Amino acid sequence: MRILIAEDDPVSRRILDSFLKKWGYQVEVCEDGKAAWNILQQEDAPHFAILDWMMPGMDGVEICRKVRERRQQPHTYIILLTAKGRKEDIVEGLETGADDYLTKPFDAQELKARVRAGLRILELQDELLRAREALREQATHDDLTGLWNRRELLAMIQRELARTHREKSAMALIMTDLDHFKQVNDTYGHRAGDAVLREAARRMASLVRVYDMVGRYGGEEFLIALPGCRAADARSQAERLRAAVAAEPFNTPAGVIAVTLSLGVAAVDGGTEVGAEALIHAADAALYRAKRGGRNRLEVADPSEMVVSH
Ligand SMILES: [Mg+2]
Repeated sequence: MRILIAEDDPVSRRILDSFLKKWGYQVEVCEDGKAAWNILQQEDAPHFAILDWMMPGMDGVEICRKVRERRQQPHTYIILLTAKGRKEDIVEGLETGADDYLTKPFDAQELKARVRAGLRILELQDELLRAREALREQATHDDLTGLWNRRELLAMIQRELARTHREKSAMALIMTDLDHFKQVNDTYGHRAGDAVLREAARRMASLVRVYDMVGRYGGEEFLIALPGCRAADARSQAERLRAAVAAEPFNTPAGVIAVTLSLGVAAVDGGTEVGAEALIHAADAALYRAKRGGRNRLEVADPSEMVVSH
């Protein structure tokens, strides 16, 4: 853990520096408020600071206020050092956003305990942030494949379509479904089925552009949104996906399984206003034709298959 010390008094500075180093912390030391504020603005700034209240340039309370104005995550834990002992001064310091304070001259054991208490707070904060991140991931992604889940993908498609209409650009959807997937589950079991879904997802995700969105739409059904893509390009992309899945059989816990995809493509360009539902429906209808046409193939929706929404 790195701790920033800002203290203009050389004796106090040396004591803080040597104690904190003795207890195993990495220490950055500066002698005035401006230098401390510069360090705290850096990308890899320490998240723990011990700031003297009275310093030339910028005092500890002002630094505190500036740090809190940024409203940045993760939290920077700040201990104010003060020679003042009056209650109203301490209240003022804490109200500007300091987490704790120490009155000089301080006792080494008290300093140690306060630093530890601060670290516990930072660790808890860290755990909360990680938990929030994990929840966000869970809420937006499919557990099995790691792709976007249906709800998140639909929301993104709606946003992208609105942008497509506004900018009069293009957008395409590819709806795809693993052929005879029920047979995979029935013949090889669900673990093999899951492995097939994961591998199909991996191959598709590795082929799309960074701004394309690949989601799991249903059981063995995937939906891919291609912003800026016209029908001809979407058709080529769908063909690449089909070929990538069909080219090499999949390794699963139950052995090697040959897998193919059927795909339906639907594209819209800026001239026509098509809703997400209509575009998905058109891609689905094209997919259905690809299935009926023999599978391991793709079909492109005719613009007349899209219901125009107003
Ligand atoms: Mg001072």
